[in-house]
Amino acid sequence: MLVSLLLDVEDIVTPEADDITRDVARLLTDEGIQATFCIVGERVRQWAARGRHDVIEALAAHDIGSHTDYHSVHPTIIEYIGESDWASGVAAASSREEPAIRALREAFGVPPSCWGGPGNTWAPQINEAVVGLGCPSIVYAHTMVPCGDVHRFCGALCYPVGHHVGDGQYHDNEQSAANLERVLAALTADAASGCAWREVFLGHPSRILHEEFWDGPNYIHGRNPPTDACIRPRRKSQADLATALGNLRRAAVAVRDTPGIEIATIRDVNARAIESPTEPLTAAEIAEVAPLIDANLRSMAHWVILPPDTDTSAIRKHTLERLTTLERVKLAP
Ligand SMILES: [Zn+2]
Repeated sequence: MLVSLLLDVEDIVTPEADDITRDVARLLTDEGIQATFCIVGERVRQWAARGRHDVIEALAAHDIGSHTDYHSVHPTIIEYIGESDWASGVAAASSREEPAIRALREAFGVPPSCWGGPGNTWAPQINEAVVGLGCPSIVYAHTMVPCGDVHRFCGALCYPVGHHVGDGQYHDNEQSAANLERVLAALTADAASGCAWREVFLGHPSRILHEEFWDGPNYIHGRNPPTDACIRPRRKSQADLATALGNLRRAAVAVRDTPGIEIATIRDVNARAIESPTEPLTAAEIAEVAPLIDANLRSMAHWVILPPDTDTSAIRKHTLERLTTLERVKLAP
């Protein structure tokens, strides 16, 4: 079974998150592990402005995805697409997502392999827009096919959410060991059931460094403070940080060394998926996944930074109308 290791780089308010991003990328490189880092466009512009070529160089050893241009700054995707019709939603997504894809291409010399939704905000027009911008796939997909395989939806390759190691608990040895045991057991069960691919989310470098996320208190319920007025997350003690990085390393190595698992970046899996046959879902399979996809989309409205009255009905309608574009990708071995 192929396993992709993912991390998100998104903290635009805390300059000291630059160092931890570099250190996490180097830690994985030291172990011979290539991960996929989903990176916010504004982070790349910040590194260029601060002369942080060391951060870009460390990340360049890995695969790179887009994590939107500004992540939690309003309007997020649900807010800017809202009740748009299909075509105007695609146009809005193209113009909002293009600067991040351009910034990543300029910094790393290749287009991002994937687009990963921030927090919990997405609309189906994103798929058509990012494919048009040269980014072929969606990770953390809200869509699915039975058994959670890689699939296509609205023209994009889609990778569903997999297993989280729990980046908020890396500093706790006991909890971290329990989380890792849970993930390894789930991966072993996935492989035994014939899955071709799974995602393991290793975490956010900023969350590994800090006691909390960077965005919640600042952007809660539609608030939109300027970046320099944002509250910064509290830094962990050096001892806790060292423990956290040790447990991150342990988790990545343990996944890599699990029998029957081969680590592959999203870029690697895209290359295989593009060569692989696809199979449309049957009407019965669409009926099976439709309520699950709808539940995923309803749950987006509960992301803490969204206004409490966020309405996902138009986004759900456009998605459910296009479920006939779902195709299972039968990954070539
Ligand atoms: Zn994120």
